[in-house]
Amino acid sequence: MHCLFCFAVDTKVIDSRLVGEGTQVRRRRQCVICNERFTTFEVAEFVLPRVIKSNEMREPFNENKLRRSFLKALEKRPVKSDDIDMAINNIKFNLCATGECAVPSKMISNLVMDALKKLDKVAYIRFASVYRHFEDIS
Ligand SMILES: [Zn+2]
Repeated sequence: MHCLFCFAVDTKVIDSRLVGEGTQVRRRRQCVICNERFTTFEVAEFVLPRVIKSNEMREPFNENKLRRSFLKALEKRPVKSDDIDMAINNIKFNLCATGECAVPSKMISNLVMDALKKLDKVAYIRFASVYRHFEDIS
């Protein structure tokens, strides 16, 4: 990585440690030319597939949209936001794991339904009824 101060091409890592419960690496760097020090953070990047909507249009994956679906279904339900975050991360992980560059939006809806089923039965029925799968619920 280039030096932030003198733009020298080379900097060396003088310290490197895990932070954020092991999900980030913090590196202390020093410029080999001017000796200035600075810190960088490294995090893994999820490459999420695009979403194919029912009208065949494709759009980028939108985490806020996914979160809104959860929050709407879980409105006034006793579910912790940590559990919602975990469910969302789990869905993102599942989408990455498909290895596809695009997935149908229906697949995401199914993942949301599975997650809600585990989180809260009422929210699950709310969400499922919107997606007209109500008749499948025994
Ligand atoms: Zn420098």
